[in-house]
Amino acid sequence: MLAPLLILGLLVCTAGAAGVAWRTGYLEEAVWWLTNATPPVLDSPAPAGPQRGAFEVPVALTPEGRAFLVAATLDGAPLTIPASSSTAASPQRPGRGGDAGTEAPLRLTLDTAALPDGHHTLRVEAEDRSRRRNRSALDVTFVSDNTAPRISVTGAPARLRAGAPTALRIAVDEPAQLDVHGGDTQWTVVQLPLAGAEHAANLLVLAGTPPNTASGELVLRLAARDTAGNVSEHVTRVLVDAATLPRQALVVPASLAALATGPVATGEASQLAALMVGVRPDRLWSGEFRMPLPAAAARTTGFGDRRDYADGHVVFHGGFDLAAPEGTPVLAVATGAVAFAGSLPQRGNTVVLDHGWGVYSLYAHLVQPGVQVGQMVTQGQPVGAVGSTGLSTGPHLHWEIRLRGQAVDPAAWLALSRELP
Ligand SMILES: [Zn+2]
Repeated sequence: MLAPLLILGLLVCTAGAAGVAWRTGYLEEAVWWLTNATPPVLDSPAPAGPQRGAFEVPVALTPEGRAFLVAATLDGAPLTIPASSSTAASPQRPGRGGDAGTEAPLRLTLDTAALPDGHHTLRVEAEDRSRRRNRSALDVTFVSDNTAPRISVTGAPARLRAGAPTALRIAVDEPAQLDVHGGDTQWTVVQLPLAGAEHAANLLVLAGTPPNTASGELVLRLAARDTAGNVSEHVTRVLVDAATLPRQALVVPASLAALATGPVATGEASQLAALMVGVRPDRLWSGEFRMPLPAAAARTTGFGDRRDYADGHVVFHGGFDLAAPEGTPVLAVATGAVAFAGSLPQRGNTVVLDHGWGVYSLYAHLVQPGVQVGQMVTQGQPVGAVGSTGLSTGPHLHWEIRLRGQAVDPAAWLALSRELP
């Protein structure tokens, strides 16, 4: 005990010529060197999620300037630590003087590319500069993933009729974000609740092509991105058969002609497209979709029927027109939430149901909307009554099914809804 006290005395005496503040700091430093028994403190935030490629691990070391890293290992194998690993002298700490309050910690760069995917442990050890050279260690655990997800597709049709909806089953062997494009159009992707193998993601892709799509090859591009950022791609080709579209030359009364074409038509179209583009991740319906009117209601206009207006405008019909006496109850084709209930220039009094998974149904020319926005409606529940509001020449129901805004053949959707899981 005598020797350290002598050294301390000597230090204090030699400090006499300088200022009081300097002397106090020097004394405190000497006392700390002599007596400190507290190991340095290492701290590092847990890396968020799986890591791919190189990433940085910040390591904070206290007390400031009195401790340094002495060793680092990754899964037990020694790592080279930065040449200057003291918290006092590290060249990797910017902001000295400028931003004096916050000190950037040391950063160790790890490259996971050479590691097997899975759990790893980085161990860092620090030592302080006191007489006892107190030591401490910190384990930082993380998961590495440098493998792209594997995609397998089932149910991809070899041929597709223009305007008909289709469903693909896609299995991805790890949680991944899926992006599907058919040509330039992004397709709706829904995550199925049923999972196959552990961690496997079962996805259902729903899409329809516009009814006037020309015959030809449609390139389907699937891209899956896992949580670490690894991306894999899958390309498949589908042959599209153009639909045979019946042609109607429409004579519209002068009072309604203004609604048939021009800004009113395009404005309503974009309003509805925006309303139905969202994908509610949960499915509100179960089982197959049903017709909104009794089977006796005659179909007067089919899906995709081409309408040539007197002014030269061409429109492809986005749904079915079903003839029924005014006042006939219009029934929800499946359980859903009311997304719209109001008046539109062309469609008149209209109700839109959101069934989830990007599937919507629309009922137009109603006498009155019989439901309110936000209300839940069960399959078979009336949403209004057949009328002739909007651009209509007599009582009928205009009924649409849309997949993420894209109108599809309602009859083909009814058939497909029977096959969905
Ligand atoms: Zn119609």
